[in-house]
Amino acid sequence: MVRAAAEGVPLEGSVAGAGDHPVGGANQYHPCSVCGRLFNRAYNLKKHLLTHTGEKPFTCMFCPYRAALKGNVTKHMQARHLDRLAPPPHAAL
Ligand SMILES: [Zn+2]
Ligand SMILES: [Zn+2]
Repeated sequence: MVRAAAEGVPLEGSVAGAGDHPVGGANQYHPCSVCGRLFNRAYNLKKHLLTHTGEKPFTCMFCPYRAALKGNVTKHMQARHLDRLAPPPHAAL
């Protein structure tokens, strides 16, 4: 076993910073900076990041319930405050 590329010794023909990371044009993944999970959409990564930060930007209109995802608040309101929710548009007509 020979240590060919010693630390600090630049390899001939190597491009600085290139490394062995494959550069994919079609598949652009968005890695989570916290846990390293890969997401194929920036939107999904953004949603996932909320689970790390604990940020819950969506709040219930009727109680202090908070959630990271809007869908969770919607489900909560339908389960807890169904009577206080406005009726669906088609019911008014
Ligand atoms: Zn993560
Ligand atoms: Zn509520």
